[in-house]
Amino acid sequence: MSTLEVSDIHAAHGQLNAVHGVTLSVKPGEMLFLLGANGAGKTTLLRSIAGDHLAKSGKVMLSGVDISKSRAHERARSGLALVPEGRRLFPKMTVRENLELGASTSREGPWNIAAIYDAFPNLAKLDKSLAGKLSGGEQQAVAIGRALMGDPVAIMLDEVSLGLSPAAVEFAYDTLQKLREMGLALLVVEQDLTRAVNTADALMVMCEGHVTLRAKPGDTTVEALAAASFGYEE
Ligand code: ATP
Repeated sequence: MSTLEVSDIHAAHGQLNAVHGVTLSVKPGEMLFLLGANGAGKTTLLRSIAGDHLAKSGKVMLSGVDISKSRAHERARSGLALVPEGRRLFPKMTVRENLELGASTSREGPWNIAAIYDAFPNLAKLDKSLAGKLSGGEQQAVAIGRALMGDPVAIMLDEVSLGLSPAAVEFAYDTLQKLREMGLALLVVEQDLTRAVNTADALMVMCEGHVTLRAKPGDTTVEALAAASFGYEE
């Protein structure tokens, strides 16, 4: 059974239809990459799945439970986490305080501050640092840690490597690899097509709110993914 199963999501911003009937599923331990040019509708889709944006229609199932009618905080409590574009940390709060904000209130799971620091020793060193003073890579690590504090079964990451140094991107991907090995379902928005094709278990491309390509990494190329980002199907 898929951890995350999304069917026929339609979402709009006022009169603008940004997502036209998108369907996807992510299994435990699977990394699905969502690609597409700026404005393709990726963020709107992720926010609709998370419940931050009200979809016009469609269904979201998490571990077999229909959460389509649940509000964002209820979806988070059910085990669905979103690491938003730009990380959205509280810059004047410490790393620990930011992590604590992600703490699960109702779910029993393996993650707490000690477990996060154990898994990511680099974060432990930053415990008392203000989030606003950290590098982009460190902030991304805190944002992922904050998501884990809610003991998710599925994590969606928007623009995971945007604005990060090459070393920070490596660190972020090492982290994602660990989460994959732990059996989390990962839905990752990425601009770097080469990295996506080298990392993904499955890929999908959106253009103008529509899915224009679905592929397994071995069956596609960076060129085909780029073409699909501009609406052409292979
Ligand atoms: P990006 O990589 O630039 O974030 P994206 O693929 O995530 O792009 P969205 O941000 O979901 O795409 O945008 C989809 C469409 O919806 C675009 O045409 C965008 O201009 C529009 N849009 C996004 N957010 C809003 C908003 N808050 N109000 C109005 N229109 C919006």
